Amino acid sequence: MPRSCTVCEHPERGTIDRALVGDASNRSVASLYDVSEAAVRRHKSNHLPAKLVVAAQAEEVAGADNLLDQVQHLQQSTLDILAEAERSKQYRTALSAIREARGNLELLAKLLGELDDRPTVNVLISPEWLELRAAIVGALEPYTDARGAVLRAIEGAGNAGA
Ligand SMILES: [Zn+2]
Repeated sequence: MPRSCTVCEHPERGTIDRALVGDASNRSVASLYDVSEAAVRRHKSNHLPAKLVVAAQAEEVAGADNLLDQVQHLQQSTLDILAEAERSKQYRTALSAIREARGNLELLAKLLGELDDRPTVNVLISPEWLELRAAIVGALEPYTDARGAVLRAIEGAGNAGA
């Protein structure tokens, strides 16, 4: 190495590396550890251990997967409420549930769009998703408009990754 790196030689290098693979900005790291911003930038692009970067990305995917899980559970509860409201002819409640379901689906579509870029995750062909998709479309059968919107949202999410 022709030039020594002040970050590599820093006694708290491990902490700095972890901060850099997280959300910390070069500037905040530089001022926090009393090194130059240029040194941080150079260190970040040349010396950051690949293992750390990969680990951080894996963590991100796991976090998104968990979020997806939660939204799917939320959606299932919403659909249960919708079914119950339909049975008891509480149409106002049913309409609220549909609005909630649409919100959940928008969120799902966003999550799926983001996750679909990742080679390790393909939720669109997972049995859980296909089952949920069938449940959603089935539950919305009596509500043509909502059903159409939902199907468009789902197809949009699918196409985004194609
Ligand atoms: Zn370095």
